[in-house]
Amino acid sequence: MTDRTRIASLRAQEEELFAELHPRSAELAEQARGPLLAGVPMPWMTRWPGRFPLFFESASGARLTDVDGVEYVDLCLGDTGAMTGHALPQVTEALTARASRGITTMLPSADAIWVGEELARRFGLPSWQLAMSATDANRFVLRFARHLTGRPRIAVMDWCYHGTVDETLAVLDPSTGSGQAGRVVPRPGALGPQVDVAETTAVVPFNDLDALDRRLAVGDVACLLMEPALTNIGIVLPEPGYLEGVREVTRRHGVLLVNDETHTLCAGPGGATVAWGLDPDMVVVGKPIGGGIPCAAYGLSAELAERLSGPMLGHEIDVAGVGGTLTGNALALAAIRATLSTCLREEDFAVAVPLAEGFAAGVAGVIADHGLPWHVQRLGCRAEYWFCPPPRDGAAAAAAVDEELEGLLHLWCLNRGVLLTPFHNMALFSPHHTVADVDRHTEVFGQAVAALTSGT
Ligand code: PMP
Repeated sequence: MTDRTRIASLRAQEEELFAELHPRSAELAEQARGPLLAGVPMPWMTRWPGRFPLFFESASGARLTDVDGVEYVDLCLGDTGAMTGHALPQVTEALTARASRGITTMLPSADAIWVGEELARRFGLPSWQLAMSATDANRFVLRFARHLTGRPRIAVMDWCYHGTVDETLAVLDPSTGSGQAGRVVPRPGALGPQVDVAETTAVVPFNDLDALDRRLAVGDVACLLMEPALTNIGIVLPEPGYLEGVREVTRRHGVLLVNDETHTLCAGPGGATVAWGLDPDMVVVGKPIGGGIPCAAYGLSAELAERLSGPMLGHEIDVAGVGGTLTGNALALAAIRATLSTCLREEDFAVAVPLAEGFAAGVAGVIADHGLPWHVQRLGCRAEYWFCPPPRDGAAAAAAVDEELEGLLHLWCLNRGVLLTPFHNMALFSPHHTVADVDRHTEVFGQAVAALTSGT
């Protein structure tokens, strides 16, 4: 499977097919190179496979159509931003109604109360605030945590991802063998770090309670920001007892625990926090909660809300470093209300999760048929395959990244009408997908693996 010549020749073949299938995207990509840095409005868009970006025309439910009229089964779902499915009529209706009555005023709209109550009901934390994105929400919770504890550093898991939050773009030095030396360095690729991340951040390996205990014992960490399962370096699941241990260790050291549920919301209506009975001090949720409209939220325990209510109401809160002019605008609140009242509910997961199970079973079948040492992992309606046995932590997962192989498999699937998330081997399922969509992926993935292994 590591036959690089075979991967390269199949890739060249698939690049030709990609260009043949997408003449209109090719034209637009050429035009976009003029006004847009790298020819895209946002840098990650260059990470899709194919020698130029695909331009999309429309998306609805679990389908996406590009400007050349090619239709796809969308297993990317906007890297979770569209986990509900695209273009939901009830969200469109709520947005239209709200937009025609004003969007942003610096005043709350009545939807805010419904949204706060619903988030409290789902996640079990009583007090909520809005943000524009999950990145934004993470930045605010880190600020609150430092304010509340008077401690300067935050802690994250090695190879985590929590958005473009400066303090979180840190890893344990990979050149010292799985971060054994414990030196905190900027994440490879992090642009222009503002200060040395070793000054701001403690990094610990996932699934390692002793390392966490040792690091938090130093006494300089305000909060641990973590996903209950890593989802941004493949899915790395917590070992039995690990998350209970994290809660015990953080509490013992006076460190606030923040669950970032932006991706792990795939585990159920209240994310992994509720699915696994966790007890964080704060929860962050973003991406799909507004049906695609930019918004996010963070929730606080009763104790933290009580401790924050004084400074929160202070005269200088407008320059305190939390919130933003458009944050909590009426359009976002209407979007969240329309989305959470009709989507991401038990009954929606009851449809989406079995589809993800079917995807995982299909991929596992292909892997077994070819005797490969790969694995497929699943968390709720999200599944992801990996080119190694299940890694226990982020460093092991990162060491197994194979961009050439991944790029080929993604392009192969794209050329046959199945979109996977770039920079992940991830498939996400909504209630709008069907068993036929799952079967289509299994078929296409099986053909790709057969092409890769034939003649080897
Ligand atoms: N938290 C997690 C766990 C994420 O995966 C991401 C994005 N992939 C973010 C936060 C940031 O979300 P956004 O880019 O929408 O700000």
